[in-house]
Amino acid sequence: MATRKIRIFGDDVLRKRCKEITEMTPKIKVLIEDMLDTMYEEDGVGLAAPQVGILKRLVVIDVGEGPIVMINPEILETSGEQTGYEGCLSYPGKTGIVKRPNYVKAKALDENMEEFIIEGEELLARAICHELDHLDGKLYTDFVEGDVVDSASLYEDEEE
Ligand code: ZN
Repeated sequence: MATRKIRIFGDDVLRKRCKEITEMTPKIKVLIEDMLDTMYEEDGVGLAAPQVGILKRLVVIDVGEGPIVMINPEILETSGEQTGYEGCLSYPGKTGIVKRPNYVKAKALDENMEEFIIEGEELLARAICHELDHLDGKLYTDFVEGDVVDSASLYEDEEE
């Protein structure tokens, strides 16, 4: 198991457009494994390659239903709307309200460079949108409604 250092907001690498992956290489295989390890270690539901400093169109997602690896992903269809708190491993301890589609259909290549279609609702739809944005240098704070707040502050009220 190998984890990589997560780049934090303010790092220029998070604002760049990532390049397509044209062939699977041993290096990219290791990168995928490391990204999964890093995502699980940090308790994230997704991680995009630029977050570990690699400008390639690759994301990993796990919303509790097993790992999903998406290479050169593209959104094909969206519908509905959901509004909820969103966070990012590159912005630890912070959260903000972001509106996203409630349903997303996307295509991508898997670790074997074979195309697959994925459909997701709710958290999975949100995770796909969030991670794919990273590949174009977009961050959730670009779309946040209101303020970005300390995630801990969300739970304070409940305890009172
Ligand atoms: Zn993120």
